[in-house]
Amino acid sequence: MSEIMIGNPKTPRWSSIHSHISGLGLDENGKAKPIADGLVGQVQAREACGLIVELIREGKLGGKGILFAGPSGTGKTALAVAIAKELGEDTPFVSINASEIISAENKTEFMTQAFRRAIGIRMRDVRKIISGVVTEIKYLKKSSPFYPTPILGGAKIKLETKDDSKDVNVGPEIASQFQSLGIRKGDVIMIDEETGEVRRLGRVKEKSTIGFDIDTEKQIEMPSGKIQSTREIVRTFTLHDIDVSIAAQRIAFSIFGFLSEERGIDDQVRKQTDETVRKVTSEGKAQLIPGVLFIDDAHMLDIEAYSFLTKAMESEYAPIIILATNRGITTIRGTDEKAPHGMPRDLLDRLLIILTKPYTEDEIMNIVKIRADELDIPLTDEAVKLLTKIGSERSLRYALQLLDPAKVISAKRNSIKVDVNDIEEASKLFSDVNESTQFLEKYKDLMLK
Ligand code: ATP
Repeated sequence: MSEIMIGNPKTPRWSSIHSHISGLGLDENGKAKPIADGLVGQVQAREACGLIVELIREGKLGGKGILFAGPSGTGKTALAVAIAKELGEDTPFVSINASEIISAENKTEFMTQAFRRAIGIRMRDVRKIISGVVTEIKYLKKSSPFYPTPILGGAKIKLETKDDSKDVNVGPEIASQFQSLGIRKGDVIMIDEETGEVRRLGRVKEKSTIGFDIDTEKQIEMPSGKIQSTREIVRTFTLHDIDVSIAAQRIAFSIFGFLSEERGIDDQVRKQTDETVRKVTSEGKAQLIPGVLFIDDAHMLDIEAYSFLTKAMESEYAPIIILATNRGITTIRGTDEKAPHGMPRDLLDRLLIILTKPYTEDEIMNIVKIRADELDIPLTDEAVKLLTKIGSERSLRYALQLLDPAKVISAKRNSIKVDVNDIEEASKLFSDVNESTQFLEKYKDLMLK
């Protein structure tokens, strides 16, 4: 069947639990600063990630992937986010869990889509812009036997810049924007020829070349140069965005009867996207931006998924693949074989492995503080101490998860700061994973009796 679901996997570009991270926090020599860019500790791993970023920039990571190995909550996802941030704000970041792949109805399709969401295309769009000072404006009316009262047919304006002057005729759509913006003589306006968007940038004295705002008497910038100018707009799409738009165009065609069958994204759509992208990149109109595809709990993948990954790493358009695991030796799913991290040898051979170690109490305290700051949650010193204790005895993730509910609890008693009691109450209401697992294990025993 060729029809495929659009919009899966639904992963945001930046996960909100990592919104405090803006980079790897390294100095110019690639050394990790103790606390920087929202990251704390994990010095060796961060420096290794810095080298990875350099390799990526030099195009030397081709065909290889990265594996973060470390206990739960040691910042594997956080580091993957930081790598993407270091590569640039518009670098796509896709995070999925291996279980999503395993449980997908069509694993290959799910993975292909995840891959294509993790590859960006930076398009340089050159727009024609008309901008200048309006020195004359006249609306044109249109009447016909069908319109009893004349309607707006367009407008004629005279535009001036420091060294150019031009009569410009515009159609009814742009003229009606003039009307709703109240454009009059002395207004500095801008018209985007492609989108037809009109913007009022300011006002100058009529025929003045200095550029004074009539209303405020403040100097404003006069448009200079020729009336017709160009402006560069940079936009980033993902391969998947383009697939969606090509598929949507086809569906639109099919509605009008040009195609007999509605189609979603299929191999043909993807081929068309790839061809378009190849063309625009070779013409220098666009640039390919490999993003980051992060797969958590990667030991859960099966042999079929591993072979897809290994092959995909070598393809023409490949994102940077970062796997994460907290397992040592385990069975490779789909086989009887045991292997390091449950991964086949040929994949392991292609991975650069980075270890993430458990945090010290001091580091946990700083992570709690950074996270609370990001969430705008003021904590008393005692509350910080308690969360640090919870973070080291139970889990960092659990400690951080208590922040939001504790804030709600403290707000109920009209307190500005979150205190020990609020955290204790939140931790009574919500359990950590160990507690919930033990609870169900006990429950299972009861059921068997
Ligand atoms: P899991 O194996 O359970 O998926 P993980 O190793 O991916 O865990 P993260 O999700 O990255 O762990 O970390 C848990 C939380 O702690 C996140 O909110 C993350 O942003 C934050 N965090 C982790 N490490 C750091 C760090 N070094 N500096 C600042 N914040 C961190």
